[in-house]
Amino acid sequence: SIMPATLSAISNGARHGILFKGGVHLEQLSDLQAIAFDKTGTLTNGKPEVTDVLVQDDLSSDEVLLVAASIERHSNHPLANAIVKYAQQRLNEKFIDPDSIEDVPGWGVKARIDLIEWKIGKSKFVGEEAVKQFKNNKAKELAREGKTVVFIQRGEELVGMIALKDLVRAESKKAIDRLKKQGLYTIMLTGDNTQTAQAIASESHVQEYIAECLPENKVDHIKQLKEKYGNVAMVGDGINDAPALATANVGISVGDGTDVALETADMILMKNDLSRISDAVNLSKRMNRIIK
Ligand code: ADP
Ligand code: MG
Repeated sequence: SIMPATLSAISNGARHGILFKGGVHLEQLSDLQAIAFDKTGTLTNGKPEVTDVLVQDDLSSDEVLLVAASIERHSNHPLANAIVKYAQQRLNEKFIDPDSIEDVPGWGVKARIDLIEWKIGKSKFVGEEAVKQFKNNKAKELAREGKTVVFIQRGEELVGMIALKDLVRAESKKAIDRLKKQGLYTIMLTGDNTQTAQAIASESHVQEYIAECLPENKVDHIKQLKEKYGNVAMVGDGINDAPALATANVGISVGDGTDVALETADMILMKNDLSRISDAVNLSKRMNRIIK
């Protein structure tokens, strides 16, 4: 049975845009030691925009962009959506229909067009050797600016790079600062590369970041954090984050997260406002004082 204090805390939360799926998680929140955040769509807006398109000397950037967007059209990743939108605004040509498509979550997309294999995604996906051969390689500089670089490979050759910038949510910094003041250890887990991760981590004030994290790595890191700190929350929005949300003591999703994240989470921030987490922690502390 649910205690009256728990019920009242749940309804109080609802009034503040925090949806709890039961009292157990509310109790664990009062004794939270650490909190992990996904980057894209959680600490950031999740709506990256294309800032740079770079191609090999002998190629036209419009042609490369057209193929890249034609392939990314078959992925739901925020980076893919941004590339498609940019191409639609810039090009007048119709998209190409690839002969085959393979979306590889956490890595990128593979496609075959007229017997040629294309790969679009992070450097480790297209192969770091290919990345080194790219003339006028600005990938490091772009990443240091907090941009994510998407690499485009045609057969064995790296033909282009698309840089995208995803802004840190306006309230992320304040939300993290508040959690730190409450004594919580804050950490960011991301599939993105080290340079980009570092830029976003310092912009959002988290104490630690882990880059190049595959979905299964996120789970491992949550397990390690639990061993080291005790009660751990995970905040995420993506399909990728669902296993980590389920592993944490308290899984938290933002309201505009993917269905899978919303289903898996124990708590949902209806207004996407990360500073509500601190409110929830306070709420649960008050509730526990009443119960005990
Ligand atoms: P994040 O933790 O940043 O949300 P993901 O785990 O979804 O990232 O993906 C990790 C990285 O793999 C991305 O930062 C990107 O470099 C690359 N990637 C994944 N999917 C795609 C895609 N559809 N197009 C281009 N790059 C992709
Ligand atoms: Mg995400």
